[in-house]
Amino acid sequence: MPDIRQALAEATRRLGERVDAELLLLHVVGKPRSWLIAHDTDVLDDATSAALDALIERRAGGEPVAYITGRRGFWKFDLQVSPATLIPRPETELLVELALERLPKGAVTNVLDLGTGSGAIALAIAHERQRARVTAVDISGAALEVATRNAVELGVRNICFAQGSWFEPVLGEPMDLIVSNPPYIEAADPHLIQGDLRFEPANALASGTDGLDAIRELISKAPGYLRPGKWLLMEHGWNQGPDIRQLLRDAGYEDVATYRDLEGRDRVS
Ligand code: GLN
Repeated sequence: MPDIRQALAEATRRLGERVDAELLLLHVVGKPRSWLIAHDTDVLDDATSAALDALIERRAGGEPVAYITGRRGFWKFDLQVSPATLIPRPETELLVELALERLPKGAVTNVLDLGTGSGAIALAIAHERQRARVTAVDISGAALEVATRNAVELGVRNICFAQGSWFEPVLGEPMDLIVSNPPYIEAADPHLIQGDLRFEPANALASGTDGLDAIRELISKAPGYLRPGKWLLMEHGWNQGPDIRQLLRDAGYEDVATYRDLEGRDRVS
């Protein structure tokens, strides 16, 4: 029977990726990462070994680790995810940081997150700004169930969820900030059907022939839901900055700017 170190080496060889191998092993044994350090000579019993093999096969077939384990790290959280939600990406933390810069600590503010998915952005903002009242919208009831479970698990209470298409379910006071990680990939982009992306919800990824349908809708409708002088922040593709800035200026927005992610690529406007 293999010990943990051997099992990890073998899994890493098959997946070409040590991180994925570790996450799957820890999921199978039900332990946190810190456990590995003192246990690398523990022997894996046959049942555990077989269970790990099955997960490695799924990963080798392209299924994202986050869907296999049902978890993904984002911000300070270990979020629940499901195939009904996009898997939160590290670059989306830029959107959270830009949002927090626009929300003074201790101030009572209204924040709207459109297309919340697992709730990643909305929960991070609500957690960091306890006096913000965050509304998180998604068209998918299954996604909202995941987001609600995350809110309960994290003990985040200053958030409410609403189901509908973009602004459809939004009523009440005007917002101080609207954030969104909308779908922004071109509908014909081959990555949508070839790579690991094919496991993620298509309506969270693709948006019309040029990828900008959802962003155009957000830009045109957001002013009707914002307090004067307040903010709309959207994630987008690395090559969409110029088009989006033009759309924003044409719609009369002020302070139009694009921000780069840690890879140095345009990511949020
Ligand atoms: N950043 C994601 C990707 O390219 C897309 C996320 C999105 O469409 N909102 O894989």
